Amino acid sequence: MTMAACLTVATAGWVLPGRELPGQEPASQELPSSWTEPVEPFALGEELWYVGTAELGSYLFTSDDGHILLDVPLQDNVEQVEANIRTLGFDPADVRIILTTQAHFDHVGGVASFARRHGARVFMSAADAEMAARGGAGPGAEGLTGYQPVRAARILGHLDRVRLGGWELTAHQTPGHTPGCTSWSGTARVGEDPVPFVVGCSLGVLPGYTLHGAEPTYPGIDTDFCRSVAHLRSLPGELFLGAHASFFGLASKRRAQEGGELRAFVDPDRYRDYLDRNAARIDSVLVAQGVPGGCAQVLEEATDPDRTAILQASRAFSRAYVQGDTAAVRALYTEDALLLPRGREIRGREAIARYFGPVAGRVNLSHAMTSSSLEIRDDQAVDIGIWSNRWRMGDGPEQEASARYLVVWRRGDDGRWRIETDMWHQPGG
Ligand SMILES: [Zn+2]
Repeated sequence: MTMAACLTVATAGWVLPGRELPGQEPASQELPSSWTEPVEPFALGEELWYVGTAELGSYLFTSDDGHILLDVPLQDNVEQVEANIRTLGFDPADVRIILTTQAHFDHVGGVASFARRHGARVFMSAADAEMAARGGAGPGAEGLTGYQPVRAARILGHLDRVRLGGWELTAHQTPGHTPGCTSWSGTARVGEDPVPFVVGCSLGVLPGYTLHGAEPTYPGIDTDFCRSVAHLRSLPGELFLGAHASFFGLASKRRAQEGGELRAFVDPDRYRDYLDRNAARIDSVLVAQGVPGGCAQVLEEATDPDRTAILQASRAFSRAYVQGDTAAVRALYTEDALLLPRGREIRGREAIARYFGPVAGRVNLSHAMTSSSLEIRDDQAVDIGIWSNRWRMGDGPEQEASARYLVVWRRGDDGRWRIETDMWHQPGG
């Protein structure tokens, strides 16, 4: 999608989300009322305050040297956040640093306005800074609304620390939901005890996301999601907070806290449950999109660069074939590659590219190669699996076919994997 098209869609309204998990993007043109519903600000720990709405998180870390504000959700929430800060006895003008979880409109929509009004500096991950500078446009934002562009004063890398007063917050790159999704950790004092906290970025797979296939939402989104869950599992999320209040059950915890339960928000079980549920959801999307092994498979493949490169080249073939991109098909075969479709023998990448080239009247709808066994030895690999494709002739009915394939890949001197031998047979053929 071009940038112009993306921006047009972005300002057009909201996407229709799945409802599997709470705290995902809005379900209709109407924002859920909880997104703007006010909540009395309150302490989560010493010098750590909740200043967000009933559903959209905003966290204030206060100190004598100034304050850190994490997320300013919607543009419509700015005055509410300011009022909450004042209610607690602080001055919004003392907010020195604004941090963010994700460059979506419901978490940074108010950042530009707040930063401008109070002279605060915005720190963001590189990928989210890029998205926020475009007012929320980019991969992982299709269909979502835009917002006032944000200019980041500092770019944060994985495990970078932000210090102010007595606070030290660590930025964790947990991409997937957005390419620069950032979760935060640190230690807060709850009562007498130091308690490690995590403010989690979203892990939701939005309905339009393609994690796997020829055209992912962005390259590497599958490994990003899977690695982010694995990384978040390594953090001691005892005081578990998040971009959305429903991640950690703010309302019921707040009631318990008001009832005198000092440690109401300390809930490591809820944190693990939250990660488990998101991991299951990510796995189910991966399975539906052609990765039967889910994140386990994605992570295994990611640790093997040759395997990944071959599977990517395999997907590139499918894409080139469907698009009738003869040059791209040619580039995937070795100079004197051998193609053995049933009853034929085609030698050389030029002839092969012609064989797969556009056919008058034929519209290719999809093509996929699903590998069931890929054995790599040095510069050669044998890939066995099933391909399937769908097409139609002119306005005729949709047709489909599938076959068992055997592809021999060869790694060239340039390090790239290309097809050396390619054969298949249809059932009964
Ligand atoms: Zn989001």
